[in-house]
Amino acid sequence: MHRCEIITVGTELLLGEILNTNLQFLSQRLAETGIAVERHCTVGDNPARLREAFLSALDRGDIVLLTGGLGPTADDITKEVVCEALELPLVLDELQLSRIEDFFRTRGLAMSESNRKQALVPEGCQVLYNGNGTAPGCWIAKGDKRVALLPGPPGELRPMFQEQLKPLLMPFSSGVILSHYLRTIGIGESRMADLAQDYLDLANPTIAPYAKQGEAFLRVCAAAATEEEAEALCKPIIKKLKEILGFYAYSVDKELEAAVIDCLVEAKKTVAIAESCTGGGIAAKLTQAPGASAVFGWGVVSYSNDCKRALLDVPAYVLERYGAVSAECAFSMAEGIKKRSGADIGLAVTGIAGPGSDGTAKPVGLIYLAATDGETTLEERIETGRGDRGYNRDYATKQALNLLRKLLAKRTEAN
Ligand code: AMP
Ligand code: MG
Repeated sequence: MHRCEIITVGTELLLGEILNTNLQFLSQRLAETGIAVERHCTVGDNPARLREAFLSALDRGDIVLLTGGLGPTADDITKEVVCEALELPLVLDELQLSRIEDFFRTRGLAMSESNRKQALVPEGCQVLYNGNGTAPGCWIAKGDKRVALLPGPPGELRPMFQEQLKPLLMPFSSGVILSHYLRTIGIGESRMADLAQDYLDLANPTIAPYAKQGEAFLRVCAAAATEEEAEALCKPIIKKLKEILGFYAYSVDKELEAAVIDCLVEAKKTVAIAESCTGGGIAAKLTQAPGASAVFGWGVVSYSNDCKRALLDVPAYVLERYGAVSAECAFSMAEGIKKRSGADIGLAVTGIAGPGSDGTAKPVGLIYLAATDGETTLEERIETGRGDRGYNRDYATKQALNLLRKLLAKRTEAN
């Protein structure tokens, strides 16, 4: 089993100015390729720290991938630091030089002297030519160690990896590493992990819990010689975990909105949505999934009381007596949108997203949901206890979609 580490280079990464998407891209591609990535490291444009990070990665692993710092400017030091550490001289690559000259000529730009630096490559390396920029990549073999240098811009790195580096890495593959995500909602990470307790120590597939705003996932990850074998390892475990988690588990790999659309299609039902505090977020989420138009046609953002009255027929006394953030109002909104649209199901949400309250004594993060199909009505009262507007809106959106799932399954209580 080969051991691989990735080093991403750039002070802008450490400052949080840009998201480290190269790291995610490379990790995903390597997993698919069957190469185990054992460690990630990010360092700034600092020669001493880069040297230290590189040498220790090389000491532990046999493949080290570095991205960033191949540009023409003084802060781009990756190639120089790696060559010095490996005791390899930098030599001029004539083909690379002519490519850089062409790059500037065809764009009518003047080539600066610093761009010449990009035609220097470690002696004996395999050059990975860059069709989308001026910095070439390099594949270096030193004893039984392998080192790849890749440019920072994702638009240059991605095609270079796919077209040139991946074939060079294939001989180091030890098969396939495949992951599936069993996705749950309404249970929370710790409870989910408790229920899945007996499976958390498995070696292959490995099972790991993780949480994502209002949802909790179990990652089922198998290593095998082929994709089919990896799938075969995952399948029975996923089946058992699904049984254990019951209604909480809403899909394997699929987003919540896509899973909800599947439920609607299967039940042959349409839904219309009336939203207050989510401001159209539920409709936006639902329509992210392809096929939404078959089950969803009407959505109203009824942010004001006027709109709730005019478009959803919420009675004035409901708003006066109980207020816009109330179970009665949520129900009235759901009923109103169902009637107006002629959809099978009306779904509604009203709440206080925060950060401030609505001038009443009601707490921030108080949310009412209602879903009705004319026969069964489900209502939910949520108190997130948080003043974070983004969190409350996102949480309300997901719980509303889940309420729809419950109604379709005719569940009157949350498991
Ligand atoms: P460099 O090769 O270090 O000159 O990087 C050039 C540009 O590539 C940076 O300014 C970023 O915009 C982008 N970049 C570098 N590293 C990464 C990374 N790890 N993830 C995403 N973008 C990156
Ligand atoms: Mg840089």
